[in-house]
Amino acid sequence: MDGGSEGRSIWARLGHFFGHNEEESLERAIIDARAEGEVEAEEESMLLGILRFNDLKVEDTMTPRTDIDCVSQNATIREAVAAVIASGHSRIPIYKDTRDNIVGIVHAKDLLSCLAEPDQQDRQVSSIMREPFFVPETKNIRTLLQEFRSQKQHIAIALDEYGGTSGLITIEDVLEEIVGDIQDEHDKPSQEDIRDMGQGVYEMSGRAFLEDLAELGMPLQSDEVDTIGGYLSTEAGHVPAAGETFTVEGWKFTILDADKKHIKKLSACRATQEEAS
Ligand code: ADP
Repeated sequence: MDGGSEGRSIWARLGHFFGHNEEESLERAIIDARAEGEVEAEEESMLLGILRFNDLKVEDTMTPRTDIDCVSQNATIREAVAAVIASGHSRIPIYKDTRDNIVGIVHAKDLLSCLAEPDQQDRQVSSIMREPFFVPETKNIRTLLQEFRSQKQHIAIALDEYGGTSGLITIEDVLEEIVGDIQDEHDKPSQEDIRDMGQGVYEMSGRAFLEDLAELGMPLQSDEVDTIGGYLSTEAGHVPAAGETFTVEGWKFTILDADKKHIKKLSACRATQEEAS
């Protein structure tokens, strides 16, 4: 059980305390309090984050399967060390045959102790991996946070309904839903999802959210997808290649970089009247 009903009653009680009966109106009250200057922008964002926490599932915040840095169980400890260095992550999932079948997690700390002994480095990484903690992708993240704490885990592998790997989620992903982006000492500087290049041109990753684009005046709406990459792929009926252009809602989108599965980078500018017609 996800404890959603318990959570709701907490919000209902809080809402009642503030004279609001619905979660929605509590959200409104927080936004109004910010508008009236009673709370700071950061406080508003944390309060809303806590409020929305109840509705978020693992799949909403995990790192998707295709982005997981992992190694095969046949890899050596030396190769796993190289994967830690290349990825910058301290925990690397280990798969058997394909990444759909994660069979372990190797921790940088465990690799470190092997590094001290040169003859250990050609051993298979599977000899030092730990058992993965699996969770369904539909699990509520509030429940997951409790489980992370009670089971002393920091990372979980999310599974889809067929038991295949759907993604990876860590405590950091969960906490970021409340406190916003957490950068640690080793995080690569994140490329802004949307960058204003001047003269009305924006560059963005395929992961930029439609709602963020709407704030820039690009009114793209979809019930099926959340990102511009997903939107243009759906419009085109295929994953567009670099160089393809699309004119939608008065904006011209040019694909700058893409692989077979994703649009990685694109640009947007207002379409000329000719292009728009
Ligand atoms: P780390 O410091 O090892 O990167 P964190 O728990 O701080 O681990 O996670 C930071 C971000 O990196 C999170 O978004 C998490 O989902 C992602 N992440 C962690 N490990 C991996 C991995 N092996 N492959 C891809 N993403 C990962």
